[in-house]
Parts: sequence; C-alpha cells; structure tokens
Amino acid sequence: MYRVTIDTDACEGIFACLVRDDRFVESDEGLADFEAATAETYRTDEGSVVAEFDDDRLETARQAAAACPPGAITVEELDETADERSEGAVCQ
Ligand code: SF4
Repeated sequence: MYRVTIDTDACEGIFACLVRDDRFVESDEGLADFEAATAETYRTDEGSVVAEFDDDRLETARQAAAACPPGAITVEELDETADERSEGAVCQ
C-alpha cells in the first residue's frame, strides 16, 4: 500500500506526470488529478489531492514524481504492520 499526494498549490500543469503514469489526469482547473477509480482511497483537501493504491505500480508513481519539475508529487510507502499495531493498542 502506498500514498501519492499532489500538491496542487505547487503543480504548474506541465503534465510530465500524465506521460509516465496514466492514473494521473488533468483536472477541470488544468492541474494534475488522479483517475479516482484506480485508487483504493481518494480525497481532495485544500491544496492537495491524495490517493492510496494497493498494486504493483509503486515504481511507476515514483517515476511520475521524479519527472515533476516543481516536485509537486510525493510518494510514501505505508507501513501496514505499524497501522495494525496502532489499531490494536487501546489506551485506558
Ligand atoms: S508533472 Fe507536476 S507540475 Fe506537471 S502536472 Fe504533474 S504534478 Fe503538476
């Protein structure tokens, strides 16, 4: 599982990401967005679009991030073991 974040304040609509990863699409505002149907989770926040994926395309997402001139794309691997641990820990 990994999370990909587009900083829409930093995005300049150059679309190098679309060429490298077809999950990136152009939004109505002319900025990068995700094809939401390809993601496990998808949300838009003030200044960012965040999607999580559970597939074998982590390296593709990293290539899209590396190709973004303003560095507007962040890719993070999610530690599911740590998530399970924290869910199991109950403070009383
Ligand atoms: S490559 Fe970067 S600046 Fe260009 S559209 Fe994609 S996220 Fe935006």
